[in-house]
Amino acid sequence: MENCLFCKIIAGDIPSAKVYEDEFCYAFRDINPQAPTHILVVPKTHVPDIAHISGLPADAQTALLAAIGKIAAQEGLENGFRVVSNCGPDACQSVPHLHFHILGGRAMADKMA
Ligand code: AMP
Repeated sequence: MENCLFCKIIAGDIPSAKVYEDEFCYAFRDINPQAPTHILVVPKTHVPDIAHISGLPADAQTALLAAIGKIAAQEGLENGFRVVSNCGPDACQSVPHLHFHILGGRAMADKMA
């Protein structure tokens, strides 16, 4: 999608620190990490947020969730990790391309919001 930051990253027009890629997904390190490990997992096909995930084919939806587990194992997050997908203004979503934050490498706060 034109003028979408994450579409440009997926296309390689904007550099990123890639950690994982498959047919449906791309994952890279967050530029402003909020934990020792902070990775963004995005679908290669543009949908704006998780409320619109049904706009992706079922195999792409499955691949996104499977990628999270693969990346966590790859990153050595055996002690646990948190997955967040901000959706819309109340959740402070800043990039309108569906993404899952993987946060790990330290104990998370027990309150999520
Ligand atoms: P959200 O606020 O949930 O929409 O998350 C967007 C995330 O994208 C934020 O955590 C930003 O730090 C991250 N971000 C923005 N630009 C870049 C970039 N060029 N490379 C990597 N991460 C980015």
